Amino acid sequence: MAGKSKKLVYLFGGGNNEGDASMRALLGGKGANLADMASLGLPVPPGFTLTTEACDLYYKVGREQIFAMVSKQVDDALKHVESATGKTFGKDPNPLLLSVRSGAAASMPGMMDTVLNLGLNPDTVQAMVARTGNERFVMDSYRRFIQMFGDVVLGVPHHNFEHALEAVKAAKKVKLDTDLDADDLKVVISHYLAAVKKTTGKAFPENPMEQLYAAVNAVFGSWNNPRAIKYRQLNDIRGLLGTAVNVQAMVFGNSGTNSATGVAFTRDPSTGANRYFYGEYLINAQGEDVVAGIRTPQQITLKGSREWAKSQGVSETERKAMYPSLQEAMPKVFAELDGIRQKLETHYRDMQDLEFTIDDGRLYMLQTRNGKRTAAAAVQIATDLVKEGLIDEKTAVLRVDPSALDQLLHPVFVKKAEEAAERLTVGLPASPGAATGQIVFSAETAEIWSVLGRKVILCRTETSPEDIGGMAVAKGILTSRGGMTSHAAVVARGMGKCCVAGAGDAIMDYKTKRLCVKGKTLKEGDWLSLNGSTGAVYAGSVETVDPQLTGPFGVIMKLADKYRRLKVRTNADTPHDAAVAVKFGAEGIGLCRTEHMFFEGSRIVAFRRLILVAETVKKLKDRFGVSDLKALEAACKTAGMPAKELESSLRAIAQYKQALKELLPLQRKDFTGIFKALKGLPCTVRLLDPPLHEFLPQDAAGQLEMANQMGVKPADVKALVASLHEFNPMLGHRGCRLGMSYPEVTAMQVRAICEAAAAVKGSKPEIMVPLVGAVKELAMQKTIIQATIAEVEAARKIKLNVLIGTMIEVPRAAMTADEIAEEAEFFSFGTNDLTQMGCGFSRDDAAKFLGDYVRDGIYDYDPFQVLDQKGIGRLMETGVNLGRQARPGIKLGICGEHGGEPKTVAFCHGLGLDYVSCSPYRVPIARLAAAQAALSGK
Ligand code: PEP
Ligand code: MG
Repeated sequence: MAGKSKKLVYLFGGGNNEGDASMRALLGGKGANLADMASLGLPVPPGFTLTTEACDLYYKVGREQIFAMVSKQVDDALKHVESATGKTFGKDPNPLLLSVRSGAAASMPGMMDTVLNLGLNPDTVQAMVARTGNERFVMDSYRRFIQMFGDVVLGVPHHNFEHALEAVKAAKKVKLDTDLDADDLKVVISHYLAAVKKTTGKAFPENPMEQLYAAVNAVFGSWNNPRAIKYRQLNDIRGLLGTAVNVQAMVFGNSGTNSATGVAFTRDPSTGANRYFYGEYLINAQGEDVVAGIRTPQQITLKGSREWAKSQGVSETERKAMYPSLQEAMPKVFAELDGIRQKLETHYRDMQDLEFTIDDGRLYMLQTRNGKRTAAAAVQIATDLVKEGLIDEKTAVLRVDPSALDQLLHPVFVKKAEEAAERLTVGLPASPGAATGQIVFSAETAEIWSVLGRKVILCRTETSPEDIGGMAVAKGILTSRGGMTSHAAVVARGMGKCCVAGAGDAIMDYKTKRLCVKGKTLKEGDWLSLNGSTGAVYAGSVETVDPQLTGPFGVIMKLADKYRRLKVRTNADTPHDAAVAVKFGAEGIGLCRTEHMFFEGSRIVAFRRLILVAETVKKLKDRFGVSDLKALEAACKTAGMPAKELESSLRAIAQYKQALKELLPLQRKDFTGIFKALKGLPCTVRLLDPPLHEFLPQDAAGQLEMANQMGVKPADVKALVASLHEFNPMLGHRGCRLGMSYPEVTAMQVRAICEAAAAVKGSKPEIMVPLVGAVKELAMQKTIIQATIAEVEAARKIKLNVLIGTMIEVPRAAMTADEIAEEAEFFSFGTNDLTQMGCGFSRDDAAKFLGDYVRDGIYDYDPFQVLDQKGIGRLMETGVNLGRQARPGIKLGICGEHGGEPKTVAFCHGLGLDYVSCSPYRVPIARLAAAQAALSGK
């Protein structure tokens, strides 16, 4: 623990700056930059900063002990401020008033507490009136102080003060605070003091030192208020000690009409434009008034003011008279502020967010920080700063948050329209973008309505592969169950389609075609809007705008490509998705899931025919000990079976063969389309993976339809579905286990891939076997794959260059990767299943409790979204090391959903993988994240 002599207080301003911008972690952003600005010679009121270490100690040793530790340092610092200002804290004739403000190392605007005008009491009020001769100003400051201190420190509800103020304004029949005179304000003050007494049972504290420590206590305490905690969670702010507290001599924007206060951005924070100085100010006001919306803030520049007036329908005459810009109202101060704007941008080499106050014509700077900005502004500013020579390319690449790029890749809601919309609930932001359409409850209706030219939102409790057609035509997808790796989420991300998943409040009744959300009922055909980037669900149709992929966005992407080492591929299984991904910069397909191809149009019928007889064929093979279908037919014929049995056995084999024959050209066509879209880029095709029951209708109507199509009894279909039922299908008969049972399916898929590759010049297919846990599984599948490749090569008289590899998604595969690498030419880490099996969390059920797990800090992040580096990452590391031991130079990639998540991309860079693969719309994010990982040496 820190000793008593530890330095916990740092001075700034008044000719003594103990900090600088490099000391953010200790002094917080505000404290470090106040010292820095003062060192630059800018007008900063003097003050001091209690460090973030003091906040840490506050939580570790408690308030009494920390205050005892800092009291001497605070006394000395106060003396410094007193001598720099010529005022005395809490004493006449010239009382010093203080502001007490929070300031953590990462900016958390508005999340923590602030107290202004501290040090006022009946004595100091009198002294200030005598000194300034401005009773109104002093009373205004006093009532503000009681209100802020009462609210922030004493916990008196804000509305108690608001009511008192409104009552006095109403009695006087005025609208604005500035219309109240000193006597009115005295009435307000007496009401305020009474409200404090009534709520707290105690009189308002008059001792300035007591006020100061109580305020510091409140600011330290506000570090852990619920909204600050939530803000840190949402913005992934971790590992900070706490907030610093900045105690600073007050300057007064409310001391008359020659005074003002304002906030400004050196460039436009929503577009990044640098056309003029963006900011607002208010005459005769204090800081909180600008954001409180009580009065209409005025613009800093004349240009900005004119644009504002135009947008508000305010005439030039009215603007000039009522809302003049600072440039017009106080031209000298404006010129000084504009000079400071230039100086600070050059100094910090980034767009700044400034706070300033003008006290009786004198300008003071109260804060500067790197301004928060939209993704569009971030790319614009970063590229402009490179052009202006303020930063280099590498810095520009590091300046843009990869996750924020999402905002630029999808249609988004018009901000105002979204703000005005009726929000029903919030689910998981499963796939970004904005969507608006009419509600449908089945994939079938979605498809029919879309043919009729309607925009639809598909609402399902959860989706299954059967819904794929409806998902493809829907503008957005809403589910009430399932997490970030649920079927709906994964497929929607792959399609770049907006999806809100797991919205538990959205109750869907398929029978009555009603969607009920927290008491509001919507029916089929009603309009609904989804924000897949935030998870928000709105009633009605909300206006959207399309993304722009050129300009500064394109420049940043080019720079990212220049500095990254990792390659970026995509997860895509249609020519359209492949083409979209290539447009986004994908360097090939890292995962082509073939199962979706079995659902489209007539192919589901063929595949169901195969499933119907697959088990019978397998049993016959086992009975006669033969694996070849021709040999099996012969064995049946010579086995002396009863005629009926022989007939049904031969019919089953014929049906099996016929289904494979029908599927082959369809699959070949799929692969041909994809290889063409890839134009010579590599394509990893994964063999069939999901359990077979996913391809069968689960409801009675669907089963009846299938029975009619197949010419069998409905009971037979029902029995088939029952026979394929598994208690834990994710750990059941799926992945390469299907290929082991039905090798002809593997052979058919491989043949389709090879024939397509033969047809499209320059194709680079890579065949990937899923869910391998033991090397022999891979070895046996590989025998089939190689034999099929050889057959196609012989028939076509060509040489195909096909890599054969496996997914590493079963923990056993990672732990035995050296054995597996003997057979595999590449590994692709399937971190969805690796997380499922490694953490023991069901992909489909874990959403129920993972939120709590993250909230309680059991896991830092949802391990299905951000790779659990400690656990699953270690499995990957083992897999990488063992794999390379056995096969140096083995090609390594990742294709789980994590492949597009920036922290995971950095981890993969560190592991030395060759590529990451992610859904098309995350390709640019991964490209930028890979460059940042390379540049920051992670
Ligand atoms: C995985 O498990 O990470 C993977 C990519 O495969 P799927 O999500 O299709 O199971
Ligand atoms: Mg998998």
